[in-house]
Amino acid sequence: MGAIASVTNHLKTRENIFPFMSPIQEHVDILIIGGGPAGLSCAYELALQNKQVLLLERKETIGEKVCAGGITWSGLLQHVPENLVEQSFPEQTIVTTLQQCKIRETNPIIATVNRVRLGQWMAKKALNSGAHIASGVKVLSISDKHVTLLNREQQVKTIRFNHLIGADGANSLVRRFLKLPNEKMGLGLNADLAIHRQQMQWHFNPRLFANGYAWIFPHKETCSVGAYVQSGSIPARELKKHLIKWTGAQQLHIPSNMIKAGLVNYDYRGHCFGRFWLIGEAAGLASGLTGEGIYPAIVSGCEVARAIADPTYKTARIDLMVNKQRRHNKMLKYSSKYPWSCQLMINFIVLCMRMKLIPFQELEMAD
Ligand SMILES: Cc1cc2nc3c(=O)[nH]c(=O)nc-3n(C[C@H](O)[C@H](O)[C@H](O)COP(=O)(O)OP(=O)(O)OC[C@H]3O[C@@H](n4cnc5c(N)ncnc54)[C@H](O)[C@@H]3O)c2cc1C
Repeated sequence: MGAIASVTNHLKTRENIFPFMSPIQEHVDILIIGGGPAGLSCAYELALQNKQVLLLERKETIGEKVCAGGITWSGLLQHVPENLVEQSFPEQTIVTTLQQCKIRETNPIIATVNRVRLGQWMAKKALNSGAHIASGVKVLSISDKHVTLLNREQQVKTIRFNHLIGADGANSLVRRFLKLPNEKMGLGLNADLAIHRQQMQWHFNPRLFANGYAWIFPHKETCSVGAYVQSGSIPARELKKHLIKWTGAQQLHIPSNMIKAGLVNYDYRGHCFGRFWLIGEAAGLASGLTGEGIYPAIVSGCEVARAIADPTYKTARIDLMVNKQRRHNKMLKYSSKYPWSCQLMINFIVLCMRMKLIPFQELEMAD
């Protein structure tokens, strides 16, 4: 693999990353499945409200995730400690087949974070506030009153709960238990390369990426390179070929085994189902247009925790994100209607951004 290394492996050799091993009781008040940003923010907020909460994560290392690690200023960037930010970019370079432009603002528009570092920081914060977290524990099935799991000793156990929160990502088991459809999905490919790039770049090329895009997001010691499309617009294998072809034109080389795939769920159908709750991508709370999901995951986790603690609480911040998601879905719909409409819409939006008629924030999930 030469100079190329995955960011997670990079971290494992140099930093202490611990498994979280809270005891698993037979009954808990609130059980969260999934230790991504949604589950961790929810666990933290519930613990702050003195609730008894246990979070189960199937992976050994909390935070590991196929992701470009971009967070926005109006969303999350102002709320994470400075030492978590790898690089920040007040300037974005946008390239289409017809134009190239730079968009600049006073504050960083987007910064990059390492997902393992973000996950570890969030998990420690939740633990210190009183939440219980057990990693390396996979939930196998769900019934009305209990879940069945495989613990780190490979034993099958059950836990009863009063509330169950599905924070288990794009392909959520809790969502399937609730029999909710998954019709709006995105597909992302990402590779973390040990190269140095200065600019944060977005590339729109309908021939290669339909109404999606490819990116170059520099981190501190690595660079995330990838592509995102609406599921079904380009088959995964084709997308991988297109990504490799495009990176060649950018004087980058990605060995095909470095490319990892992940789904993005933007099919929101609600977040409260009696004693069952959905947050983050399990609730379909991501942007179908850009694939942004870290901010909606954190906000929805926090909102649902407050709603459980206080049944009169109005989850207004989820409503705002759902409105934003609908606007993004409209843009997706128009751009995929005819082969020419995609090209036209992308160039029109970029032109409006150049002329400062549309702020970059319109592409973000935060308002
Ligand atoms: C290629 C790619 C690039 C992306 N880049 C960005 C970006 O730059 N910026 C951005 O904001 N968003 C990005 N996203 C989206 C972002 O990663 C997700 O929206 C975000 O992680 C969702 O958080 P979550 O907590 O809802 O789910 P996740 O982060 O997916 O966490 C769910 C957790 O649940 C666990 N889990 C699942 N099933 C079980 C089970 N049965 N038992 C126990 N645990 C279980 C999983 O192991 C996982 O850790 C990207 C996505 C992809 C695919």
